[in-house]
Amino acid sequence: MSLWRFEVVVVIASPKGAAISLLIISDVEIASLSLAMTSNCKRDTKSSGFGGCVMERCRKCIMPVTAKGITLNDEGLCQLCHEYREYIPIGEDLLRSDIAPHVQKSKKYNCIVPVSGGRDSTYALYYAVRHLGLKPIAVHNDNDFETEIATRNLDVVTSRLNVPLVRVGTKKQLAKKIVARKFAMNAPFGAQLVVAQTCEACEIGFESAAYKIARKNGITLIIWGDSKDESTDGYHQLVPGRVPTLFERLFFSNIMHLFAYKYYKYCMKSDYGYNSPDGLKEIHLYDYIRWDQNVIVDTIRKHLGWDAPEDSPTTWRIDCSLVPLVNYLTEQAYGVSKIELGFSNMVRNGKMDRDDALQRAERIKKNADVEKLKSSLREIGVAPSAIDMVFCSDDTKKGFSPGFVVGAKSGFKA
Ligand SMILES: [Zn+2]
Repeated sequence: MSLWRFEVVVVIASPKGAAISLLIISDVEIASLSLAMTSNCKRDTKSSGFGGCVMERCRKCIMPVTAKGITLNDEGLCQLCHEYREYIPIGEDLLRSDIAPHVQKSKKYNCIVPVSGGRDSTYALYYAVRHLGLKPIAVHNDNDFETEIATRNLDVVTSRLNVPLVRVGTKKQLAKKIVARKFAMNAPFGAQLVVAQTCEACEIGFESAAYKIARKNGITLIIWGDSKDESTDGYHQLVPGRVPTLFERLFFSNIMHLFAYKYYKYCMKSDYGYNSPDGLKEIHLYDYIRWDQNVIVDTIRKHLGWDAPEDSPTTWRIDCSLVPLVNYLTEQAYGVSKIELGFSNMVRNGKMDRDDALQRAERIKKNADVEKLKSSLREIGVAPSAIDMVFCSDDTKKGFSPGFVVGAKSGFKA
């Protein structure tokens, strides 16, 4: 039985009078009922070009014309392909000179490599040991959504390399709670905002975990395994948006979720000790050496026993069970799936064959199980009303976005 209870009913009408929301606040839950905003749920998931439809796409990459902000020029190229300039890595010599002041050879361990169990961070660990002769500690942030194959890979590759693996997590699954609360908090503003901020807890977690273990061991070098070749920041810069104001937050968000999210985030940072150690040098390996998924996957499979699920159409992002949700919601919000954005990058920079990318993206899309995605959200405590708001909303009318590009910093994105 509740010790206290109150209810506030707020009736909100949009400037056009098209939306009316009722916010009912209680000690247990706030149910946010959007009328009219979600009543015309007609989203056609087949209209994205697979399943028999022929989708017009960029002639070079696989970007569909449905992607928000994308237009094709007279040659059939999207803006990203038209403006593409190959990224030239700055080279291993510079890498060695940049890390040299931070490598203390007499120490038992002299760098941190954050690892997710995915391919790029695994290769970064391999490279640190076998090419650079470093003595790393592999640091893994348990984001509460780790896949079985990622757990297996972490154990196998660190064992093969004889590198200690430190797993860092929160005591009360704070990352999971942050994801759930943030989803509910952002739900009234649509999938674009939800999907852009879904990975926040993991980003805080990986960064903080790496700092924590570096500080504890007197280490001042962190080697991240993210790559510009895989980053989708370039696309997101084409799609302007805005952050909800505090006023909008207060009146359209579920207030309890907003406060709970802030509280969990505070607890998570306190748990980890958020600040970086003095004199820390953070480098991103693929700024220096060429990122090539074929070389990476072949090497870590052959030398470290790394693996991807047998039935997976891709070796990319096999480390987190939230990936299918992020992929689906990205398409909901932007008209292009996350995997299509990633594959487009890889095709554009010559690291993937275009037909191969199309076939793999189609398989991933066919495997998407919307009911399963909704069910997984309910399991982590997201209210059905919030789930329905996001899965049935037409984001093109909302235009909310995080207002910043979620930067790929950690290897776990690979
Ligand atoms: Zn293109």
